Amino acid sequence: MAKLYPEIKILPPGPKGKLIIEKDRNYSSSSYIKAYDLVVERGEGPWVYDVDGNRYLDMMAGIAVASTGHSHPKVVEAIKNAAEKFIHICGTDFYYQSMSNMVEKLAQYVPAMGPKKVFLTNSGAEAIEGAIKLVRYHTKRSNLIAFKGAFHGRTTGAIALGSSKIKYRAHFGPFMPGVYHIPFCNPFRDPTGETESVSKVIAYIENDLFKTTVDPKEVAAIFVEPILGEGGYVIPTKFFIKELRRICDEHGILLVFDEVQSGVGRTGYMYASEYFGVAPDIFTTAKGLASGMPLGAIVSKEKVMNWPKGSHGSTYGGNPIACAASLATLEIIEGLLPQIKRVGEYAISELKKLQKRQPMIGDIRGTGLMIGVEFVDPKTHVSAGAFMEKLEQLAFKKGLLLLGCGASTIRLAPPLIVTEHEIDIMVKIMEECIIELNK
Ligand code: PLP
Repeated sequence: MAKLYPEIKILPPGPKGKLIIEKDRNYSSSSYIKAYDLVVERGEGPWVYDVDGNRYLDMMAGIAVASTGHSHPKVVEAIKNAAEKFIHICGTDFYYQSMSNMVEKLAQYVPAMGPKKVFLTNSGAEAIEGAIKLVRYHTKRSNLIAFKGAFHGRTTGAIALGSSKIKYRAHFGPFMPGVYHIPFCNPFRDPTGETESVSKVIAYIENDLFKTTVDPKEVAAIFVEPILGEGGYVIPTKFFIKELRRICDEHGILLVFDEVQSGVGRTGYMYASEYFGVAPDIFTTAKGLASGMPLGAIVSKEKVMNWPKGSHGSTYGGNPIACAASLATLEIIEGLLPQIKRVGEYAISELKKLQKRQPMIGDIRGTGLMIGVEFVDPKTHVSAGAFMEKLEQLAFKKGLLLLGCGASTIRLAPPLIVTEHEIDIMVKIMEECIIELNK
């Protein structure tokens, strides 16, 4: 196949794009972010074409969702076949083949968890809401521990757990009570406090939180993104995640991994829990699960998912078209894991070379194709958030789709089919942007 490159024929937004943006701005909710003026007409693999004929390299996959690339032929075929048969019947009340295949499939991942049960949802937030209900039901305890910097979705229970940016919370409270937010393990920002044998955060939980603020016997669960997504693509130490497991075991607390962003092969493992070598009691998954069709899930140890008939359900959750798309997606991703690891390692090594030339890059961290590039003031190491935002905008004008997260981090979450060729293009354009912005 011919090697493709970004191609900007008209500086975006072009005339066709402008018309669409204008109409959208007249009618759509003022809460939408719209990171930049990208008006998509179609996508193919890691490439996105806008309505004015420009071609972009997608290094964000619609926020880590288009896992198999845009409109993968096998996923499209699965969607078409499913739609021709039936579009809806409601999996909460009735049976169908794709749903039973789907729950069986998800129950096979993370074998260290042992036998599992699965509840299908439409989104990540819906999976989190269900998981909150499940941990409370199962333990008959009400308190939850969650992390600063965490993002679990935009519904009210999920906002109560999250604490990444104040705009997600401001004027929406009061929130569900019983949530205790504690700092997250960030080895870049706290290199001596968070190592492979020491964790200040763990010490804080045991020596302070449990002694002064909440009795561990009243804590139902710890909710944690094993790799912080929205909060800055922060990879904690393996020690930290293992210690969370130990604390949970000691006090009968459930450990819930929110793998909505880190799941489905993104880290080079089907689920990030395997990277850490730690089995949670429950994990949530969504985003890349069905290549962009709305599907999420709560995957739980069998004995934990003991809520009674009718206590939880969903009209659309496990929709047959989404299940068909997901089954095709998972087959593709399972075959891609070695490539994801290889290309991810290549990306990190090329970015580290770039870091040597461009000291505004303070940190590069990642596993598989979940990579954070944190921008800092080279002298003070203070987050360079405004610079990162300008870089995101300039890269777009040059045909590279990037997306920020946290205070000053570019999250690289490309379609998982990308190769070294696309990584080379990304690094080249990123460097051009850094040089231009520093002039
Ligand atoms: N959990 C994590 C870790 C996420 O990154 C997100 C979305 O970004 C969510 C939950 C919410 O998912 P959704 O937007 O599908 O509701």
